Amino acid sequence: MASLLSLEEAQARILERAARLPLERVPIVEAFGRVLAEPATARVDLPPFDSSAMDGFAVRAVDTPGRLPVADRIAAGRPAARELRAGEAMAIATGGALPDGADAVIPIEYVVDHDNNVEIPEPVEAGAHVRPRGGDLRTGDVVVDAGTVLGPAQLGALAAAGVADIASARRPRAAVLTTGSELRAPGEALGPGQIYEANGVILASQLTSAGAEVRRLEPVADDESAHRNALAAGLEADVLVTSGGVSVGPHDLVRSVGAGLGVEEVLWGVAVKPGKPLWFGVHDRTLVFGLPGNPVSSLVCFELFVRPALLALQGAKSPLPRYEGGTLSERVRRNAARTEFVRARIHVRDGSVQLEPVTGQESHMIARAAGADALVRVPSGEGELSAGAPVSFLRLA
Ligand code: AMP
Ligand code: MG
Repeated sequence: MASLLSLEEAQARILERAARLPLERVPIVEAFGRVLAEPATARVDLPPFDSSAMDGFAVRAVDTPGRLPVADRIAAGRPAARELRAGEAMAIATGGALPDGADAVIPIEYVVDHDNNVEIPEPVEAGAHVRPRGGDLRTGDVVVDAGTVLGPAQLGALAAAGVADIASARRPRAAVLTTGSELRAPGEALGPGQIYEANGVILASQLTSAGAEVRRLEPVADDESAHRNALAAGLEADVLVTSGGVSVGPHDLVRSVGAGLGVEEVLWGVAVKPGKPLWFGVHDRTLVFGLPGNPVSSLVCFELFVRPALLALQGAKSPLPRYEGGTLSERVRRNAARTEFVRARIHVRDGSVQLEPVTGQESHMIARAAGADALVRVPSGEGELSAGAPVSFLRLA
């Protein structure tokens, strides 16, 4: 760990290695959270026909005001049998197709409808309460751009535009391996010097939320041959994420065993707190992340380095974490050499976002971190950020 890479430099080196995975077609009903690989275009005009925005009466504006005979009653999905002639009205429901000849709709609240005649007291403007064909999109227009992560609104737009399936990079296959002779599974009894293993469940849930298919390998003790077997199995995935064993101690075996298996080291050591001993390498097409063992380090490193790589593998246009802005509710000491990510609670006061650091900022304090919903970015430097200072933060899911 000769010199530490800056956060941005490390992210850039990782993203350079994260090429999009092969494409597959995905039905939109299964595409929530997937990244669109090619721009999706509308199959129809949207709306596909002039339609009514209200329950009311379709008319020719020039015939209003007046008392008009009701020539037909139009429902959504059941158009009029013929065109609207001069001096006529047709009842129409919201979403009903405007009959040929009509150019406006008068809402039901403004008329008196009796004996198949409708009394329209005020003049109606041409175009009133009509949703014109193609007013949202035209056939062939781009509905959603390539590189977009598909959420509910994007999927709805695709569906409305008649798109049944999309092209997307296949989901990354990820393997999780936790290392450490001291680790026991929750539910087991702890012996002397043992602790419960926390990173496996942290990383598996982060990986799932980033769109990966997750395989959890059996945790390994700090033993070379156990490491070798487990890492070799993990290298079959697109992304192997390990925790622990990447620091400088005699029991830190992930790097040396990884090198023995042919993992090419891309970086080791970042000027980030927590997360300094982060290790990243590649093996054929597999990205290998060696995260530090402290649970908060593991959690933070995932958000800063692993999630962006997973998004890039899926073809996301902006894979890097998206910062938001707020102000500190109290002062925070800066780290002289490393960019620090302080766990904090988000408070919205009078419409402005305030960030209150949680007590207990050490990297083993996962229970304290569990009370936080943000990571506040504190740039390296001398002194402190004062209360009220503007800061960037990442929202924790
Ligand atoms: P290491 O990076 O292996 O030196 O581990 C750093 C610290 O994190 C040590 O106190 C470990 O006991 C702890 N640790 C490592 N892995 C885990 C894990 N999976 N769950 C909880 N704590 C861990
Ligand atoms: Mg260890």
